[in-house]
Amino acid sequence: MAENAKIDFSALSDSWDREHLWHPYTSATDPLPTYKVESARGCRIKLVDGTELIDGMSSWWCVIHGYNNPVINEAAMRQLQSLSHVMFGGLTHQPAIDLGKRLLAMAPPSMNNIFYADSGSVAVEVAMKMAVQAAVSRSGSHRKTNFATIRSGYHGDTWNAMSVCDPVTGMHGAFGPALPVRFFVPQPRSRFDGEWNPEDIRPLRELFEAKADEIAALILEPIVQGAGGMWFYHPQYLREARELCDEFGVYLIFDEIATGFWRTGRLFAWEHAGVEPDIMCVGKGLTAGYMTMSAVLTTAEVARTISEGEAGVMMHGPTFMANPLACAVAEASLRLLDGQPMAETVAGIESVLKEELAPAAEMTDVVADVRVLGSIGVVETKQPVDVGRFQRECVKRGVWIRPFGKNVYIMPPYVIGEDDLRTLAREMLNIVRSESWK
Ligand code: PMP
Repeated sequence: MAENAKIDFSALSDSWDREHLWHPYTSATDPLPTYKVESARGCRIKLVDGTELIDGMSSWWCVIHGYNNPVINEAAMRQLQSLSHVMFGGLTHQPAIDLGKRLLAMAPPSMNNIFYADSGSVAVEVAMKMAVQAAVSRSGSHRKTNFATIRSGYHGDTWNAMSVCDPVTGMHGAFGPALPVRFFVPQPRSRFDGEWNPEDIRPLRELFEAKADEIAALILEPIVQGAGGMWFYHPQYLREARELCDEFGVYLIFDEIATGFWRTGRLFAWEHAGVEPDIMCVGKGLTAGYMTMSAVLTTAEVARTISEGEAGVMMHGPTFMANPLACAVAEASLRLLDGQPMAETVAGIESVLKEELAPAAEMTDVVADVRVLGSIGVVETKQPVDVGRFQRECVKRGVWIRPFGKNVYIMPPYVIGEDDLRTLAREMLNIVRSESWK
């Protein structure tokens, strides 16, 4: 099927695929083009026509150690020989224990209990259920079951996760009144590396003063808001939000699904502010993009409060909970992180991104803002990007970048070499400059 691929990239879309397979966030009847992948290794994705692409997306931010990583392959194959799955109800296994020990050693010191879940979105569901059970148990009030969050957030595609995504930029506007109604306060506008404006926190205080008796938890993506707008905000917001949560008896949930495992230059983004959440979600890089798995971590206090509540148990228990294959893969992913100087690696990526993306600030006709933090480099355009056109240019130039809205960004696997990273960033700017994406 790929004979014409060199001249017409749309030929890469398999017609059966186009007719029968739904791809994310695209029409079933008039889908965006898809490019057929044959294999991937390290930071390179190889298409069926032989085209090689330098990966700037880490497959939606999860393939942190690169594709086809020998250490993770080995862990998966070894686990496959003994136990690929067993129910977690009434049974346990060494991969779950080994992963748990490693995870707790990396997590904020106050974390004590782990709930393994299936995906990032499901982790958010579990975290929200945890918060409701704990808040009702702690307050004795069945009114304390709602949530607060900030605008421009993104927490996943399942029902409750959608309800705390930004109603406009969070991609779930189509569901309108079908979703539970949450309390939204404005997004903090103080930049990560700028000056703190104390006005940023005022709406949260006002909300808590008026409504804290209805709010179980505040849920935030710490420091970096991802799919809701790729915005990096000031750590002081988290410090003051933590104080307000304590003052008003509201739990604090950090969704570290995108920010965790060194993406922002720290192991977890809470470290930029030095404040710990009551409940924390991790996913994506946890399994290095090999399997779907996430985890929800919480304090001994939350775990005890739930256990002393009406139900006496955490009311969730999925079929694939603590899947041993996923646990073994995740343990290998975390072991790889532990064994490497990750702070230096990500600082190296950050400095290359800063240098290479700096010229975008001069492109004032098309570019609204440029920002870099850790291994995330964002060029915000003035007009929304036509994804299909942009990606066609990417494939022509041998890079893989998938923008959304006005956000053109790269989040490469940490194993990317300097030359590949520079090529990726330069081609991204070449495409932005060419305006062929409008
Ligand atoms: N929370 C955040 C912060 C995310 O970035 C995402 C995924 N982009 C999710 C939750 C949902 O994760 P998943 O796609 O694995 O369900």
